[in-house]
Amino acid sequence: MADAVVVGSGPNGLAAAVILARAGLEVEVHEAAGSIGGGCRTAEVTLPGFRHDLCAGAHPMAVASPFFRAFDLAAHGVEMLTPQVSYAHPLDGGRAGLAWLDLERTADGLGRDGGAWRRYFGPLLREWEDLVALIMSDMRHPPLDPAVLLRLDPGIELRAARRLVEQSTPLWDLRFREDIAPALMTGVATHAIRPPRSIPGAGVSMLLGTLAHARGWPVPRGGSQAIADALAADLRHHGGRIITGHRVDSIDEFDSVRTVLLDLAPAELQRIAANRLPGRYAKALSRFQYGGAACKVDFALSGPVPWQARGCERAGTLHLIGSRAEAVAAEKAVAAGHHAESPYVLSIQPGVVDDSRAPAGKHTFYTYAHVPNGSTRDMTEAVTAQVERFAPGFRDLILATNVRTAATMPAHNANYIGGDISAGAMTLRQSIFRPVPRWNPYRTPLPGVYLCSSATPPGPGVHGMNGLHAARHALRREFGIRTDPLDLLAGRA
Ligand SMILES: Cc1cc2nc3c(=O)[nH]c(=O)nc-3n(C[C@H](O)[C@H](O)[C@H](O)COP(=O)(O)OP(=O)(O)OC[C@H]3O[C@@H](n4cnc5c(N)ncnc54)[C@H](O)[C@@H]3O)c2cc1C
Repeated sequence: MADAVVVGSGPNGLAAAVILARAGLEVEVHEAAGSIGGGCRTAEVTLPGFRHDLCAGAHPMAVASPFFRAFDLAAHGVEMLTPQVSYAHPLDGGRAGLAWLDLERTADGLGRDGGAWRRYFGPLLREWEDLVALIMSDMRHPPLDPAVLLRLDPGIELRAARRLVEQSTPLWDLRFREDIAPALMTGVATHAIRPPRSIPGAGVSMLLGTLAHARGWPVPRGGSQAIADALAADLRHHGGRIITGHRVDSIDEFDSVRTVLLDLAPAELQRIAANRLPGRYAKALSRFQYGGAACKVDFALSGPVPWQARGCERAGTLHLIGSRAEAVAAEKAVAAGHHAESPYVLSIQPGVVDDSRAPAGKHTFYTYAHVPNGSTRDMTEAVTAQVERFAPGFRDLILATNVRTAATMPAHNANYIGGDISAGAMTLRQSIFRPVPRWNPYRTPLPGVYLCSSATPPGPGVHGMNGLHAARHALRREFGIRTDPLDLLAGRA
């Protein structure tokens, strides 16, 4: 019998499993789907030879997170390819904001708002590692890495707080004089699938916006699956086993296992442990809210997208919505349970740096539109129209499409309730108290059972930090192992 079982093989489940196995435990991972990776999978869903990322596509967090930096993706054979333009934001009339990897070049392209952009991101960029340590912490303890802790300048908290307040209140326009820079910033804030003028939105744009100039927004050669495969290979190398095609229906299956880590949304925890959860905890879990959702539309194209605005052809990621006001209106509609007339579309063109995703000369194009939770609407036409608005002629390049509506998302991954790709709304409360208000959000009241999914701090994204924090608690409490997980990953222990 294994010492530890992990249920779910998303990046957090695999991150936790790798740490536990490196600590010398016998680890088993049970995955419902036929393939590993959860939100980090790649498959041919349109035409043969076209490899599409089914969920996560761009990886600013995977190259910046303490977990992955210690794990070292490159040493595990994952080639991260970094577009020169991290993200672009086209506007009507053939104009666009471009967030280059280079901050100065970005500022130079933003006209009268160049200085404002430089002043917002410059100080954060100089301290980006501290900012990441802060935001990717368990929101309860100081950053794990003692080196970061010793270096930490209390000013970073102040600077971050000032920017959070600015970009979450009516002050948010004061900094800007033109329309491109605010639209560029709002495109990132809207990743949270929340009204962008909010603290979670401001937090997302501060973190991802800084990383755009620090490490870029890379894509892995061959697709996001490469990240999951690297973690799985490391786990197996350290004696771990992965069982796919096994959806766990009851936690009772693992009664004789010392510790169980669940890479699951709270609703799935409730389903598999319903009869055993104490009433108060179960009630708190039921209050956990699921948020706005995504309808994923993948395209196989006969050529690159014909963007009207110069520079967009060099971007890995593009935010398609138009002005700041349009983004606010679209997210307001989604938050109110409606479909926006002109939806926010997040798109990725991996072919800019990775020629392995499609047959020679052809391209894959990744998109998802924000929709209300549980939406059954096929957004292919709405997405196509939004792309066509900024890239006339796009429609003529389409060879095939594949759609996954929000309502069908849970059939692909039970964590994405109603198509909520964050496994829980990123409200201010749920950014900190995730999934319930407890000092240790990873530990459940069931002996030896921990949550390690993105429904715990620090929230969604492919960064492995939820898995790391949960594994650290499980190692300490269940096995008395106090070694820093970062040392285990870096081979220092
Ligand atoms: C459409 C989409 C786009 C995204 N884009 C990005 C992006 O570009 N960049 C980024 O960083 N992040 C992105 N994300 C978010 C990112 O994919 C997730 O935050 C991340 O995968 C969460 O990892 P996890 O390990 O917590 O859970 P998941 O990756 O969701 O994995 C959970 C796993 O548990 C399994 N499971 C569930 N229930 C059971 C059960 N009962 N028994 C056994 N197994 C079970 C599931 O099948 C799944 O494999 C995106 C997500 C989606 C859906």
